[in-house]
Amino acid sequence: MERNGKDLQIYRSNLVTSPAMGELKCLEHAYVIVKGGVILEVCPVLPAEYAGAEVTDFGDGILIPAFSDLHIHASQFTERGVGMDCLLFDWLNTYTFPQESGFASLPYAETVYRQVIRELLRHGTMHASFFTTIHYEACDLFFRLLKESGMYAFTGKVNMDRNSPDFLIEDTAKSIRETDRFIAEHLGDSHVKPILTPRFAPTCSEELLKGLAEIGKRRKVGLQTHLVESIAEASWTKELFPGYATDGDIYERLGFLDNGPVIFAHVIFPEERDLEILKKHGCMSVHCPDSTANITAGIMPLSDLAGEGIGISLGSDIGGGHGTGIYRQVARAVQLSKLKEFYESGYKRITFADAFHLATAAGGSVFGNVGQLREGYQFNALLIDGLEDDGGNHTILELLERFCYIGDDRNIVRRYLDGKLLQRVTENPPSDPLS
Ligand SMILES: [Zn+2]
Repeated sequence: MERNGKDLQIYRSNLVTSPAMGELKCLEHAYVIVKGGVILEVCPVLPAEYAGAEVTDFGDGILIPAFSDLHIHASQFTERGVGMDCLLFDWLNTYTFPQESGFASLPYAETVYRQVIRELLRHGTMHASFFTTIHYEACDLFFRLLKESGMYAFTGKVNMDRNSPDFLIEDTAKSIRETDRFIAEHLGDSHVKPILTPRFAPTCSEELLKGLAEIGKRRKVGLQTHLVESIAEASWTKELFPGYATDGDIYERLGFLDNGPVIFAHVIFPEERDLEILKKHGCMSVHCPDSTANITAGIMPLSDLAGEGIGISLGSDIGGGHGTGIYRQVARAVQLSKLKEFYESGYKRITFADAFHLATAAGGSVFGNVGQLREGYQFNALLIDGLEDDGGNHTILELLERFCYIGDDRNIVRRYLDGKLLQRVTENPPSDPLS
């Protein structure tokens, strides 16, 4: 690649990136050289060939990779922080299903979906895998809004043809037909990709899942759904699918798992068979700490799964989770792992470095070369600042940890997506970053 030109950007900054689980690479006042939105080089000293080039100096700020949210219900954004003392099925029936039925209205869908994209970018999430609802037109609109935003995303039309309220249930054949249409119309975009999105096994008939699996194989698209989220859900699934050994066995035997990325939310109560399947097919398991605490009755055995070599990342699970920023899920993942270690002998907690890796490089891996500050990766990055107290004297890594525990979107002072500075997401009141 040509190493100069007007789309060359050079930044001088402290930076932290996490190339591997448990590893934080920290450079003080290093140079990041970006061309055409791609990082050419990260180096401690400016190479001689760039002498005289314009350098933007971020002073004491810290550059970090943008975050990835691997499990979020875009359609539940307005439910954040409501009904948080319920268990899963009460919460779904009382709050979620009635609210999601509103997405039959396109104006409502547009209001909510524009807001979700704006707020995620504001909180530094540039890559995400979204659930929507069963409504084709609203899903189609959301896909187009995502494309306009420049975000990296997976999204799909939700499927549910049984065990659902009358106002939020589909005819099986229509659900399959509309899913095929949605995928056919949206294949081929470089940033936003369609994905099969059956809500979870109990709301899908075997006939529906077979139809979706056939689409996955024919169109070469992956799968996202919830897996063994609670003990009640796991046992209900077994009752509803008596011919299958476990929740994971359903998706493997129907042929969902080798057509594209497979993203399973929660994975709190996996059986041995599920673990074999997750490992064999390279599936991503998504830990959603806020949601786990709010809605369900368990904590993902994260360090056990990681020890098995199973891919793991983090998700907000809005609206089961209440927090928009994935940086806060980094902190919460550490907190929950410590509680699990306290209550379960033999369980090993994770570190801050582990959790930061899950939120950046691990989550980003399903979207391509994003989630790290390194050569060949997109310059999708956040500049954080303002995390030191008067009289404080923290290291760069301590300030990063502080950001995840006590910071918020006001500490994200710059956001770069494909090398472009996003300017409109921080205006207050926020204007529309999509226009
Ligand atoms: Zn969910």
